[in-house]
Amino acid sequence: MTTPARRIQLQDNLNRTREAIGAACAAAGRPSSDVRLVVVTKTFPASDAAALVDLGQTDLGENRDQDAAPKAAELAALGLKPVWHFVGRLQRNKARSVASYADWIHSVDRVELVDALDRALSNEALSNQASPGDAPGLPRTVNALVQVSLDGDVSRGGVAVSGLAPLAERIAAAPSLRLAGVMAVAPLGWDPSEAFALLAECSAAVRRIDPGAGEVSAGMSGDFAAAIAAGATMVRLGRNVLGEREAMA
Ligand SMILES: *Cc1c(COP(=O)(O)O)cnc(C)c1O
Repeated sequence: MTTPARRIQLQDNLNRTREAIGAACAAAGRPSSDVRLVVVTKTFPASDAAALVDLGQTDLGENRDQDAAPKAAELAALGLKPVWHFVGRLQRNKARSVASYADWIHSVDRVELVDALDRALSNEALSNQASPGDAPGLPRTVNALVQVSLDGDVSRGGVAVSGLAPLAERIAAAPSLRLAGVMAVAPLGWDPSEAFALLAECSAAVRRIDPGAGEVSAGMSGDFAAAIAAGATMVRLGRNVLGEREAMA
């Protein structure tokens, strides 16, 4: 359980963050309904995540399966079903776990991951059939964003811009995944506006493959206004809402 003081703090932070997103949208001449707020709850306890859902925040993000899986289970046990977004580096051996709770995966960056996720989701459907011999349940469709490495340094995740189209085509062809759009983190040392302008070009390339794949996940606590100005449809904010994190291991 959160303390009443923590709950009030989260409510205040959430209100201020929503106002700041609204102001950035207004400055960009966009309606605030264009931008979805994903609150990244990584390193914060499940009680904070539960309080946020209770305060009307439907979209929550996590970046490590080891933390996200138990948090999602804890909330589900409380009857709380946020829309979970997985935003971190994803290893192939975690694909099955992440596919079991995530509605959105922002960090699809290689073909092996597409195949592992698609396989995990179709196996989930098979194991959901009522009895052997029944038609398998329909696979759940998970929304997939291609993470782009804007500076080409793929060691921090993301596919190089040159590999974007083939990867997006592979997602579009995977029955259990919906190609939803693109995601990026502004590279260190880059002007965020330049980074997000390049991401907008990547988004246009993906929309040529599927006109419906228009989501652009961009913008963190430090640079979300620039991301909204460049067309972001989803901002991923942690510190703005939850406060500073302890240093991560
Ligand atoms: C942690 C994280 C965020 C949120 O960052 P803040 O600076 O806390 O807003 C956004 N995206 C990804 C991929 C993250 O890992």
